[in-house]
Amino acid sequence: MFQEIKNNRDGSRIGLLRTRAATVSTPFFMPVATRGAVKGLEPQEVLATGAQVLLSNTYHLHLAPGEKAVKKLGGLHGFARWAGPILTDSGGFQVFSLSHVRKITEDGVTFKDPASGQEVLITPEKSMRIQLDLGSDIIMAFDDLTGLDPAKAAVREEEAVERTHRWLLRCIAEFKKLTKGVKAADHPLLFGIAQGGLNQKLRRKSLEFVQSTEVDGLAIGGLSVGEGTKEMHAMLEFLSTLYDPAKIRYLMGVGEPGNMRFAIQHGIDMFDCVLPTRNGRHGSVWITGDKKLNLRNGGHVTDKGPIDDDCDCYACQQGYSRAYLRHLFKMADPLAGRLASIHNLRYLQRICESYRP
Ligand SMILES: [Zn+2]
Repeated sequence: MFQEIKNNRDGSRIGLLRTRAATVSTPFFMPVATRGAVKGLEPQEVLATGAQVLLSNTYHLHLAPGEKAVKKLGGLHGFARWAGPILTDSGGFQVFSLSHVRKITEDGVTFKDPASGQEVLITPEKSMRIQLDLGSDIIMAFDDLTGLDPAKAAVREEEAVERTHRWLLRCIAEFKKLTKGVKAADHPLLFGIAQGGLNQKLRRKSLEFVQSTEVDGLAIGGLSVGEGTKEMHAMLEFLSTLYDPAKIRYLMGVGEPGNMRFAIQHGIDMFDCVLPTRNGRHGSVWITGDKKLNLRNGGHVTDKGPIDDDCDCYACQQGYSRAYLRHLFKMADPLAGRLASIHNLRYLQRICESYRP
């Protein structure tokens, strides 16, 4: 359940999202724990960056260790020792982006497990079952992303949007069946995904369709997939006039500071992205002014300062110098990537916090 608290003059808004695990404040950013862990970080360290919700990956967890094993081990919360809310993606994006797709039919998507070579079928219904077994608090509908493939985009975009809508109705029906008899307060939330690429007509249609269903939240998929910043911003501007104020809005896969600020100021409430941790592991950090700094750079050899003077993250507050971090990166010590990841995660949380009271 989402409650809008206040619309700000800059186009942003603040609100509360009630999940069965906890109530969280919007806007917020979700660190990505693909296989149950935010690479290299303990849950306490992730929590200390200001994270409220964690995102995990249905596709990867289905392949290993499997949702049945996770369920037996206490669901993702018990398994990964994260008490706060967890959102799971539906698996659709990985199935398509990793190009393991063998066949797409109205029933679902068949893909090849890269480890075992076995063929696996994921349907909208199966995606719901997997996510419920994982113990997710925010479940994403299974969508058809073939419209994102540039080679097929022209013919497939509209078809993919239509199929995404039919699959959403199947997700809702299965979700209802699986949660029947469960108290409303113990229900996970279900989010629908609007697609449509960079086509305004399709985007409007998809957004209006998803908002007309009983979903708890609206996700914008298919942006930040290689289009230019200008195109993404133009689409966010277009969509900002069409939102239902009663539904939370989640922009999937966006976590670059400038894009996040723009999106928040165009009504977006939640984000996820691998950038802060992936960049961090490679020595790339954001500093005041959304500038990027590479800690591996030779210029930091004798740099006594912290990553960012204005940052209150653990790494900066402990006084780790840029010189020390550069040295650790050069020595391939995993501590370097951990500290840089903590800094980057905190950077994005500070952006979200700057819009909240
Ligand atoms: Zn920092």
